[in-house]
This record gives sequence, structure tokens and C-alpha cells, in this order.
Amino acid sequence: MTEDEMYEAVVNNDGNYDGLFFYAVKSTGIFCRPSCQSKKPLRENVRFFKNAADAKAAGFRPCKRCRSDLLSYRPMEKIAELVKQHLDDLYEQQSTWNDGLRELGLSQRRVVEVFKTAYGMTPKAYMDALKLKEAKRLLTETDDHVINIAASVGFGSLATFNRFFKEQMGCSPVQYRKANRGNQV
Ligand SMILES: [Zn+2]
Repeated sequence: MTEDEMYEAVVNNDGNYDGLFFYAVKSTGIFCRPSCQSKKPLRENVRFFKNAADAKAAGFRPCKRCRSDLLSYRPMEKIAELVKQHLDDLYEQQSTWNDGLRELGLSQRRVVEVFKTAYGMTPKAYMDALKLKEAKRLLTETDDHVINIAASVGFGSLATFNRFFKEQMGCSPVQYRKANRGNQV
């Protein structure tokens, strides 16, 4: 890989180069992954390193934004995939999900960015869609009380669930259940 190619990757925030090299910026004293969204450095200020340890040894500090200090190489798509798996498994347990984010070693903001790039929506929107889908299923396929359904898709109170449902569907859970039951009979 030539330095020109590496610089090109930096300028394009090319995530395919993440893990292949790191770049440090002399004027800021910070080193980054190629995909980092930070300000584009001037060519003459950039130094390239094979790995994070070399960059650190040369006196550069890891970037807080792209977490260039994390040892494992995680391409961004992989992170988005992990987050999605997490949401699929844990969408009804908000607190566990936040712990999971911490384990990934990424800031919440960064995770949102990565997720949005991969799936075109925020993790929150994705999670809401999962909740709504499950709530609709329970409303039409079971006789569970609405309050139980609310709890099982992760809402602490009936009022919150009702508000959420109405915002998404334009009717209350009870109305939705009635309407859809009616159609099925
Ligand atoms: Zn960075």
C-alpha cells in the first residue's frame, strides 16, 4: 500500500481500510482509523502507522471519536450488525441494551451513526419497529391484557405504551385490537 493510497483512504473516510493502517496528525497529536469522520488533515501533517501501538509509541494519542485505541479490528458494518443482533435479542430490555453498547466500547452517538449508515434508520427507530410489530401480534393473536402486552414489549407503564402506539398507528391498542379482530372473524 502506498502512502498516496492511504491518504486517499483517509480523505474518503474509507472504512475498508480500517485495521489495515492508522494515521496520525502532527498538528493535533492524535491518531485515527482511516474511516474517522474528523477533519481532513493536510497531507504534510499526516504520518502513517501499521498499528495503534506504533502510533502510541511515536507519542500520538488515540482519537476519542473513532476509538483508534481499541485493540480489535471491527469494521463498521460488523459493529452495525452486532448492534442489530443486540436489538433483535434485547429490544424489550432497554437497560441491558445500554450495557451491551458499553461492551462494544463505542459511544452511543457513534453507534447511532454507524447503525444509520448501515440500515438507514436509528437504533431507536429500529427498536420501536420491533416493539410495534410484537405488540400488534400480541394484540391480535392473544387475549392478553393490554397492560401485560405493554410490559412484555418493554414499556414501564400503560400510558407510555398507549402514547407510543397511538403515535405509530394513529389509534389506541384497544381500538387496533377491535378493528383487527373484527376483520378476522
Ligand atoms: Zn479519529
